[in-house]
Amino acid sequence: MRWLKRLYTARLLRRHQIPDALWREVADRLVVIQHLSASEKARLRTFSTLFLHKKRFSGAQGFEVSSETNLIIALQAVLPILELGMDAYLGWSEIIVYPGAFRVMREQQDASGIVHLQDQVLSGESWSHGPVILSWSEIEEDMLNPVAGRNVVIHEFAHKLDALNGRTNGMPPLHPDMEISEWSEILGSAYSRLQQSIEIRGRGQIDAYAATAPAEFFAVVSEYFFSAPQLLQDAYPRVYEQMSRYYRQQPLLP
Ligand SMILES: [Zn+2]
Repeated sequence: MRWLKRLYTARLLRRHQIPDALWREVADRLVVIQHLSASEKARLRTFSTLFLHKKRFSGAQGFEVSSETNLIIALQAVLPILELGMDAYLGWSEIIVYPGAFRVMREQQDASGIVHLQDQVLSGESWSHGPVILSWSEIEEDMLNPVAGRNVVIHEFAHKLDALNGRTNGMPPLHPDMEISEWSEILGSAYSRLQQSIEIRGRGQIDAYAATAPAEFFAVVSEYFFSAPQLLQDAYPRVYEQMSRYYRQQPLLP
């Protein structure tokens, strides 16, 4: 039945084409995709079209989504799965966009088992089967003033990939030609080194937020892999190599 799926996809792509002008305007503004070849950009457009069709976008707290805001999100969201395939984002459908950072009240259990109600301010959030929640002001900031190693959309969608094997623990489902033990050893030791460096020097070679949990390490390292690959390779060459094998991309190659 693969031919049927192909036929369906071809028809969907024809019917829901992203207008050329809108595509060019958005694609030209996003620094994070400028290294891609013409054929990779074409696939990015196909994936973005499918993504826009399959996912439901909504605004919260008065934020109004538009075809432009949705494309800006879609285009960055599909960059990590360009070689993994659209199925990597199966199992959930909602994207909620807040105008700025948003507050959540969360119950957290401390070491002695007491549950506290915590008030947290977040710029993005991703639930394993639930929605991806994003803050528009952060997305806009990444676009207008790009900072090497920072991309809120890639960060939140990396959590989605991480959650694919049932646990958000910093290790997405690896390909058959990859070793779980190798991944754990390489990312685990880089994570500990980052924690030590922050403890001793007050900072590390990458954003300190990566040292807060293994899941955050994977999400932050994914941000670097796509937006500042050279920095990641200089800081943690073996982590760069694992990321390159997982995402099946080589952002450092011309
Ligand atoms: Zn995170």
